[in-house]
Amino acid sequence: MDFELKILGSSSAIPAPNRFHTAQLLTVGSHHNLIDCGEGTQGQLMRYKVKLPRILNIFISHLHGDHFFGLFGLLSTMHLQMRTTPLNLFGPPGLAELLTLQFQVSNTILTFPITFYELDPTVYKKIYEDKTITVHTLPMEHRVPCCGFLFREKPKPRHLVKEKLPDFLTPPQLVRLKFGEDIKDEHGNILVHNRDVTTAPKRSRSYAFCSDTKYKEDILPYIQGVDLLYHEATFLHELVDRATYTHHSTAKQAATLALKANVKRLLLGHFSARYKDLTPVLEEAKAVFPNSMLATEGKTIGVLEYDFRDTE
Ligand SMILES: [Zn+2]
Ligand SMILES: [Zn+2]
Repeated sequence: MDFELKILGSSSAIPAPNRFHTAQLLTVGSHHNLIDCGEGTQGQLMRYKVKLPRILNIFISHLHGDHFFGLFGLLSTMHLQMRTTPLNLFGPPGLAELLTLQFQVSNTILTFPITFYELDPTVYKKIYEDKTITVHTLPMEHRVPCCGFLFREKPKPRHLVKEKLPDFLTPPQLVRLKFGEDIKDEHGNILVHNRDVTTAPKRSRSYAFCSDTKYKEDILPYIQGVDLLYHEATFLHELVDRATYTHHSTAKQAATLALKANVKRLLLGHFSARYKDLTPVLEEAKAVFPNSMLATEGKTIGVLEYDFRDTE
């Protein structure tokens, strides 16, 4: 099953040539999750031939324009395409009000239902779950209420080793073995030890999206060991004072967090328009955490059950 991230936008507040405002698409199986929706996002979705009906969830980190100004346009396009599939929209307080007003004054009654989930950006909390993934908020520290998102695949069933399975097992007992239980008789005696007839399940993959934030170590327990960590890196460390003042992070700080969280890979993004060439940003991060990459437009990172697969 796919667990794949596509970068649609990498720019901070003022866009740079060929860079778009923050937006990412996380595909899990056949469904897309859109994370942030800066201006230009729908154009990027079209450029990369993303089928809009497959977007079931939209997660908005905060209400700075570079993270949500594309939302009204995208929802309007979905409406013009006569979408009927329900959409879940997760965002901070105020977003539902803003959108409702925009639709009201433009006299638009959408062709599809939106369920709005108002987030508390100050806590780590489960906000979404389906049969394959869970999504939690990650509290960020920014100038306005802001949260990141942690996407995790649910634990997968263990593998049954057919040649070791006794003949007397019933289908419900086989299911229990897949979920790690031993098989017992009516007196509680173990008939089949799980460890004798099953092997470990495939790994559950994870992606943490840390949107606009100051360097913040108290999220370390939540992002520990994730496969892929996106962390904003608006500035080089020579501008650390500016980063602190504006509640943003430097490339070095993002890499330090990745190192401390022992993640597999780090993706840097939300670049200041002052950096025409992003090589110094990548080099600064790699000096601390070698497995760092730039989250540039069009890049796709497939998190496989055993490795990664990247395409430009
Ligand atoms: Zn921003
Ligand atoms: Zn912001």
